[in-house]
Amino acid sequence: MSLETSQLNELHWLMEMLHNIDVGLVVVDKEYKVQIFNGFMENHSGLLPREVKGKVLFDLFAEIPQDWFERKAESVFLLKNKAFTIWEQRPYLFKFDSYRPVTGSADFMYQNTTFIPLLSSTGEVTHLCLLVYDVTDNAVHKLSLEKANEELAILSQTDGLTKLFNRIHWESCLQAEYKRWTRSQHSSSLVMLDIDHFKNVNDTYGHMVGDEVIRHISALIRHHVRETDVSGRYGGEEFAILLADTSLKSAYVFAERLRKEVENAVVKYNDIEITYTISLGIAEVEPCIKNYEAWIECADAALYNSKENGRNRVSLHRKQS
Ligand code: GH3
Ligand code: MG
Ligand code: MG
Repeated sequence: MSLETSQLNELHWLMEMLHNIDVGLVVVDKEYKVQIFNGFMENHSGLLPREVKGKVLFDLFAEIPQDWFERKAESVFLLKNKAFTIWEQRPYLFKFDSYRPVTGSADFMYQNTTFIPLLSSTGEVTHLCLLVYDVTDNAVHKLSLEKANEELAILSQTDGLTKLFNRIHWESCLQAEYKRWTRSQHSSSLVMLDIDHFKNVNDTYGHMVGDEVIRHISALIRHHVRETDVSGRYGGEEFAILLADTSLKSAYVFAERLRKEVENAVVKYNDIEITYTISLGIAEVEPCIKNYEAWIECADAALYNSKENGRNRVSLHRKQS
């Protein structure tokens, strides 16, 4: 075989490989007219190389944001450096369907892309090569892992029966609010409440009915609080609600409304109808309260007063200042 024939063969093989490689390859000139379009691109776009040759990239693929692409490409032409895009920043450059069975959950193909400056024999960059990598598998795995972690984080902060925050998470929110208060001294009130004679409910009707009552009060709390309030299950049948930016007076109005609503509500479980009441205690944060634990103690002491004074009532922690 002559040298010329062997070189021609090599060139031919090279072209074959580039055509069949499992990576998208597009070459455009300075006017963004397509010069080369390999098999990967053909298969995923449904366009034949002869249909795209000489056509402007943005006319063929409307999904490519022209301003952004031109800015990126111009720096490649000018600086003769490579540039990259990753799916986390821009999920795709070409909107292709995702066809892999294992990644059935993706609607499109996630892509990483590389922009390569192509030097002419005179050292000028006259063309740009785009490499398009299908990274759908990685992206889908990473996204589903992130989603699972988010769900897990929420689960670890939530009480199963009531769907309110559990005690650990609620306390960390209270701690954060206390810190916020030490800087800004805005008003902030803490309501603690406990179901009255709850043991009787359990003893008379059983734990299932008791659980239903706990779910009932939790739903009422969720219904009454604002989005910025933080409510949690503090213990068995004891709940805590942090009312941000709320004075003692406003917190009292909130607590009374909740108390009355509970008093008038009927919980139904099969044929059983139960009425119940709650006792509440409120403490507004103030300078003599030195940490969030002391804040809880003040609200708890007020709750104890409600119990002592006959239950089904709201008591306030008297402010020192
Ligand atoms: P008080 O008015 O003084 O608060 O009386 P009480 O009977 O409500 O208070 P006590 O602390 O004596 O009893 C609380 C009961 O709540 C005891 C416990 O078995 C029950 N309890 C705690 N958590 C749950 C729960 O998740 N489900 C049910 N059904 N009962 C619970
Ligand atoms: Mg109780
Ligand atoms: Mg209790």
